[in-house]
Amino acid sequence: MPAALGRSCGPCTLCCQVLEIDEFDKPAGALCGNCRLGGGCKIYKKRPDVCRDFECEWLTERDVAVVLNPHRTGVLFMIDADSDEYLAVCDPKKPHVWRQPLVFRHLLAKAKEGHVVVAKAGTFAWRVYSNGETAPWA
Ligand code: SF4
Ligand code: SF4
Repeated sequence: MPAALGRSCGPCTLCCQVLEIDEFDKPAGALCGNCRLGGGCKIYKKRPDVCRDFECEWLTERDVAVVLNPHRTGVLFMIDADSDEYLAVCDPKKPHVWRQPLVFRHLLAKAKEGHVVVAKAGTFAWRVYSNGETAPWA
């Protein structure tokens, strides 16, 4: 899917940090060794398909507010291809950023649309319900 008008990854590398990448045995939370300081990929032309194919929701979906740029907030939104859950994956240095009002309002809206919304930080996860309640999630 093309990036939404006016949006690009720019200096953001959050997905290269917070997501697990089997191809490199890279665990979630550790910055990929191919990541350039200030943004970009050292092996851009040869990066694996999993990297080529990934686009966070902020990048492609206009209903994610511009101010929710993952580089600024420290949280990326994505739909899990296996579970179909709407995920908010947090920078390990900001594990509670999903509770920040602007972020939480977005998650609440997604829950009200009918998504199963889950915030993740490291090995911890919380479900966000459409009534605003939250609970640890396995
Ligand atoms: S988290 Fe989104 S905006 Fe940031 S680098 Fe990944 S795809 Fe681009
Ligand atoms: S290979 Fe490149 S695009 Fe893929 S996670 Fe590492 S730095 Fe990011």
